[in-house]
Amino acid sequence: MTALNKMTALDKLETLSGTLFIDGQFIKSKSENMIEVVDPAIGSVIAKVADATDAELEVAIKKANEAQQKWSKTEYLTRADLMHGLARKLREMTPLLAEMLTREMGKPYKETADEMEWSAGCFDYYAEISRHDQGRVLGPVVEGHFNYTLKEPLGVVASIQPFNYPILLLAWQAAAAIGTGNAVIVKPSELTSMTTLAFMEAFDEFPAGLMQCVTGGGRVGATLCESKDTHMVGFTGGIETGKHVARTCAERFKPALIEASGNDPFIVMPSANLDVAVRAGVFAAFLNCGQVCTSAERFYIHESIYDEYVSKFVEEVKKLRIGNGLEKVDLGPMVNKAERSRFEEILAKAIDEGAKVETGGKRPSGFDQGCFFEPTVLSGITPDMSILQGEIFGPAAPMCKVSSFDEAIELANDSEYGLGANVYTQDLKESMRASNELQCGMVWVNAPLLDNDAGPFGGNKMSGIGRELGPEGLESFRTSKLVMIDPAASPQDFWWFPYGNEEAFPGNNG
Ligand code: NDP
Repeated sequence: MTALNKMTALDKLETLSGTLFIDGQFIKSKSENMIEVVDPAIGSVIAKVADATDAELEVAIKKANEAQQKWSKTEYLTRADLMHGLARKLREMTPLLAEMLTREMGKPYKETADEMEWSAGCFDYYAEISRHDQGRVLGPVVEGHFNYTLKEPLGVVASIQPFNYPILLLAWQAAAAIGTGNAVIVKPSELTSMTTLAFMEAFDEFPAGLMQCVTGGGRVGATLCESKDTHMVGFTGGIETGKHVARTCAERFKPALIEASGNDPFIVMPSANLDVAVRAGVFAAFLNCGQVCTSAERFYIHESIYDEYVSKFVEEVKKLRIGNGLEKVDLGPMVNKAERSRFEEILAKAIDEGAKVETGGKRPSGFDQGCFFEPTVLSGITPDMSILQGEIFGPAAPMCKVSSFDEAIELANDSEYGLGANVYTQDLKESMRASNELQCGMVWVNAPLLDNDAGPFGGNKMSGIGRELGPEGLESFRTSKLVMIDPAASPQDFWWFPYGNEEAFPGNNG
């Protein structure tokens, strides 16, 4: 990274402070309420986010509807061209956006840069697949008729996003939504609004109003969900907020895609390659400081390898470099002080219940201004402990001993959550059983935390409803219309009035 690059990101944070992206323009919000953005590595205020006013939201919704009407009539090759162009611009903007995001929410530059590349790839994928099919031709119910289905966009999509992967998770929704002919209004987390705003520049060749960004707190998201002029909500975030969004949408029978919290199990069996299972486990537990919806949060380790696994795991964790995400580090700070305090409470309770800290368990020395916490490994965990019941969303790996594969599967499924699950084994039978029996949306066998644009992502149970990515993701943003055509209609068609005597009134011809 060059010094110039650093300057540009800081300048951008300042320039975009207090703005909204409406109707293709960055406008200064008239809001009197500004929310401070604090760099979690150094504790300084780096920008201000506007809490958009109701009048500003009204304009955004109106402009989105106007743009959507035109966009839905734009042919698919033009859509594809613009979407590939957007992906190119996003790649060019990567150094700037990645640095802004690291400064906003703390994760290492490598991870924020990866996020931009994955997001660009998602736009490239949907640029092509959006035109792959637009319905089905059905076997007609009357000979000579033509029956088919048409896939149509829903209208204006309100996309409500969390702080941990603000560009990627927006891309998963926006690429599919725009590809299928919708307009999108994004409401980013107030913790990562600046990078989302800066990303809006990449939409400069799309019709004004097709993609807009309105910032602010929960009220802004709630207003978008409630409006009669938004037609679908794509939500990613915590369970409680997700329930709120789903209830609001239910009032209008508005489709809601809910991607909510996870509490993923990580099973290690005796046949596993332990070195693989250790490095994969460390990555799955501590990527983005454990603030990933699919972080490994419940380790179920077979008793015959438990001690060896925990000791190798601890060795690996001790090698992790903590610090400012703009430096050469593996782990940045947590997103803010409130999140760190919430995490510390979960940890304190686990220790109170009998968990043993193998490494970590405290704030690192020398980082007093930031929101850092040491990656923490806990042993002596039993299935009933509170730390295994809810989402941790922080840097902790709790290790629970199991005596069999059956017990591991049973414990993994004994949860209100059902997002992803990991299994480490070289036994083909166990791999197959795990993929069939684990109650969740994604199963990773010996392959931690991967997604594939071409395959569905989403959760079961309280982890959500609906799917993003893949052809399944397209269906979340469109609806079907049935069309029935008789190309040669005749007055003799048999099922119309008046009913024929013989057929309708057998034995009553009087
Ligand atoms: P939150 O649920 O706190 O917030 C998500 C978004 O909803 C934010 O933009 C928030 O605004 C907004 N919001 C708050 N209140 C309302 C409301 N009443 N109506 C509409 N929108 C509202 O999640 P976090 O940002 O803390 O993100 C972390 C969570 O996201 C974790 O639980 C994680 O598991 C989950 N997640 C799930 C994923 C999945 O694919 N299943 C992927 C990534 C994360 P604001 O915060 O600005 O107030």
